[in-house]
Amino acid sequence: MYGAVIHAPRDVRYEERPEPTIIEPTDAVIRVVAACVCGSDLWRYRGISPVPNPTPIGHEYCGVVEAVGEAVTTVKPGDFVVGGFNPCDNTCAACRKGATANCLNAAHYEGCQAEKLRVPLADGTLVATPEMPADDLIPSILALSDVMCTGWHAAVSAGVGPGKSVAVVGDGAVGLCAVLAAVQLGAQKVIAMSRHEARQKVATAFGATHIVVERGDEGIAAIQALTDGIGADCVLECVGTEEARLQASGAVRVGGSIGLVGVPHGDLPVEQFFWKNIGTKGGPANCRAYLPHLLELVLSRTINPGIVFDLELPLSEIAEAYAAMDERRAIKSLVRPNA
Ligand SMILES: [Zn+2]
Repeated sequence: MYGAVIHAPRDVRYEERPEPTIIEPTDAVIRVVAACVCGSDLWRYRGISPVPNPTPIGHEYCGVVEAVGEAVTTVKPGDFVVGGFNPCDNTCAACRKGATANCLNAAHYEGCQAEKLRVPLADGTLVATPEMPADDLIPSILALSDVMCTGWHAAVSAGVGPGKSVAVVGDGAVGLCAVLAAVQLGAQKVIAMSRHEARQKVATAFGATHIVVERGDEGIAAIQALTDGIGADCVLECVGTEEARLQASGAVRVGGSIGLVGVPHGDLPVEQFFWKNIGTKGGPANCRAYLPHLLELVLSRTINPGIVFDLELPLSEIAEAYAAMDERRAIKSLVRPNA
């Protein structure tokens, strides 16, 4: 079978890889229907994170089960399934508390940008749709594999709820999904920070009530002007840089909360958090805990996070899928094997 392999910065190749097989009795092998490129894949693509050896890449997918190990009971061949980027057993003590991102038996994928994929801990990781979904729902189901769950996690971590004012730092796919999550969770005011027209349009389609184009102190002032002069109740930080965390701590009100889901690079401004009585929570998303509810919202066409994909290519053109995101020609690239 064929899949994407990163060899070095700016060198992602479509090449032949070994056919995945059932190794553990808890495994499933799926035929990937759609996969995508993550902002976090770009860390290696840009040479910021090392690539010591050629490595299969990708951690977002949805597809059809081809085979299951003898211990698997909740999915069967022919089922359409989606799983989070962080496989989990969904039964250990941490998972039972909903902390599935920190599963005590956590496992990893070997490159989801591929024609086929071995899914470890299939019962814990995968959620099946009741029937084969309509083709136009595929992007939104795929978005649940990471970005929508991560945006949701930002909102849940910051305590977003009815009546709250929310500001979102970051207009990538995760930030846009965080806007959608905040709206779904009942926020009254949802402020998206973005200066890119295409991304502003998605934020508005997701229900953002305000767009702030300014950054830094001007961005903070613009958010304060919309929130009785004090800042937002909840700020969702969806970038991961120190600059973004400073933007978040400036935009949040005294006593407010920040949901952190950008993979952190640099320091945390603890001093600011302390003096403003700011609460912070966040980390990798508890995908498995959120998946059933979010899948229901997608299948009932209540939410459509799939509109964050503004480029669709055959898997064989994976190099262009990366380049387009790297050069910000695309918000997020979807790839289909056998397309
Ligand atoms: Zn677990």
